[in-house]
Amino acid sequence: MRKQIAAANWKMNLTVDKAETLLNDILSANVTLHEDQLAVFAVPSPYLQMAQQKTTAEDYFIAAQNCYSKKSGAFTGEVSVEMLQSLNIKYVVLGHSERREIFLESNAFLAEKLNLVLEYNITPIFCCGEPLSIREAQTQNDYVAKQLEESLFHFSADDVQKIVIAYEPIWAIGTGKTATSEQAQEMHAYLRKVLTGKYGRDVAENISILYGGSVKASNAKEIFSQQDVDGGLVGGASLIADEFITIIKSLK
Ligand code: PEP
Repeated sequence: MRKQIAAANWKMNLTVDKAETLLNDILSANVTLHEDQLAVFAVPSPYLQMAQQKTTAEDYFIAAQNCYSKKSGAFTGEVSVEMLQSLNIKYVVLGHSERREIFLESNAFLAEKLNLVLEYNITPIFCCGEPLSIREAQTQNDYVAKQLEESLFHFSADDVQKIVIAYEPIWAIGTGKTATSEQAQEMHAYLRKVLTGKYGRDVAENISILYGGSVKASNAKEIFSQQDVDGGLVGGASLIADEFITIIKSLK
């Protein structure tokens, strides 16, 4: 059975004291997760070790927000997969739209990162999603399918099941403008159909597809209740303890 996941993306926010307090507040709520549920915190790189040490509960994990495509070497400022592994980090967010748009990360470049991440047994949370112009032109299905094809479809059926996908329509990220639960379900069902076409139904049914884009305590339950939505990747609302606790409790 595929996992239901509440993933926090703290982005480039919080000082270390505030990050520690936020994590303490959320972890001390002691929300019990079911066997197929988990919570992930994608924290800024300097806080990975602190956060990892604090997160001892079985179903709570720390993620990096990015990593580089090369194993090691003269890449000033980058974080390697080997470094993440040495900190026992189990998840990494890849291909967030901010990385794609601001740092010009392409589908091919993300494929290289994914290769390395899987080689090191770290689970990637691979983000995809269309900008507003594509949604307005109603070509979002082709756009997002291409992101999957160019970054994921070289993987074997065994390997592709190790990837978590996050569908994040760019027009809904940080804008307060959430996709309706019907729009989310429609795209998630389409992505599962694309995965079924390539890998077959059993594999597609095993892959968690999260929704991201202005998820908050007040809309999480409705969005997560959709058949093909397996939780969320949450930015702004994950910086407020009570909001994110409610979001975790909203997993189906
Ligand atoms: C995100 O950063 O992945 C995100 C979905 O942000 P927000 O929840 O703030 O829209």
